[in-house]
Amino acid sequence: SRFYDPFMSPRRIGVMGGTFDPVHHGHLVAASEVQSRFDLDEVIFVPTGQPWQKSGRQVTRAEDRYLMTVIATASNPVFSVSRVDIDRGGETYTVDTLRDLKAEYPEDELFFITGADALEQILTWHNADELFTLAHFIGVTRPGYKLNDHHLPSGKVSLVEVTAMAISSTGCRERVEHGEPIWYLVPDGVVRYIDKRGLYRKPA
Ligand code: ATP
Ligand code: MG
Repeated sequence: SRFYDPFMSPRRIGVMGGTFDPVHHGHLVAASEVQSRFDLDEVIFVPTGQPWQKSGRQVTRAEDRYLMTVIATASNPVFSVSRVDIDRGGETYTVDTLRDLKAEYPEDELFFITGADALEQILTWHNADELFTLAHFIGVTRPGYKLNDHHLPSGKVSLVEVTAMAISSTGCRERVEHGEPIWYLVPDGVVRYIDKRGLYRKPA
């Protein structure tokens, strides 16, 4: 949150929501590309709260996902991490994320950044109408998913082609479980953190 200065022009703030279990270079490249193309002043990464489970699997505790996201973004002066979804707790709904950030940055413009897979579900989210009053939506390409704009309300969503990074958190978790390296798929500090905490290892 910042002091309200009537002479300051609204800032353009990207919001990158995700489970980030773990955060990987696909997330970082997408955020960086959108930041540059849309001339955003900042991109805030927002790790989701702790759902009971996601597609039948236990999600890593929020504090670990938060710290990995901080480690991954710390060196970029225009990247930051918000705890709003983690501190609210429970299942995360994008409308709550955007309401909370709008309350924190009432004078600023929000741009919600989302991958093609997540964008597909956008109109099935409840409160879809309110979502579009809170933020502009930016859909980025993701290998394996087609970006198409049918069904999307015109003027509310922009589609952006980003350099394809065929990386997923699921793939990273599977590699760790099988003892395969994840160097260069995620930032070095995240590799170290996963190792230090013993995350994603096959249960003994
Ligand atoms: P999981 O495999 O556990 O679902 P994930 O890799 O999809 O993880 P999420 O935390 O679910 O990562 O994704 C957060 C956001 O980042 C989503 O909007 C998703 O579409 C986008 N995203 C994830 N991976 C990529 C990628 N390689 N390229 C572009 N966007 C991505
Ligand atoms: Mg996903």
